[in-house]
Amino acid sequence: MTQDALEKWIKQLIAEDKLYKFYKCREWRQLSEAVMKENNYECQHCKKRGFHTPARSVHHVQWVRRHPRLALSRAYVYNGVTYNNLIPLCEDCHNKEHDKGKGWKKENKNKFVNEERW
Ligand SMILES: [Zn+2]
Ligand SMILES: [Zn+2]
Repeated sequence: MTQDALEKWIKQLIAEDKLYKFYKCREWRQLSEAVMKENNYECQHCKKRGFHTPARSVHHVQWVRRHPRLALSRAYVYNGVTYNNLIPLCEDCHNKEHDKGKGWKKENKNKFVNEERW
């Protein structure tokens, strides 16, 4: 799938309120499984603090809703520096990541977390 096609598809899913379909698609499941495996199925935020916690899901640093083109990208470039876009996290760390973005509409928060549990 090209990035243009991906962006179009995801925007359509958002418009239809069916973004969960993205998390069920084969491309995402294969990619997230590969990322999990490479990181030994460990939460990467806990790991930085010296804890070994099983990861529950793969977080998009560049949120899918804001950056649909990067939904299937392992990395993104910002100011000429490449960063990881996909990070395995445990449930606690994942919720914290999404709580940070207070710009996120409150009424959609719970729904969003549910989507990302896929
Ligand atoms: Zn964690
Ligand atoms: Zn996330």
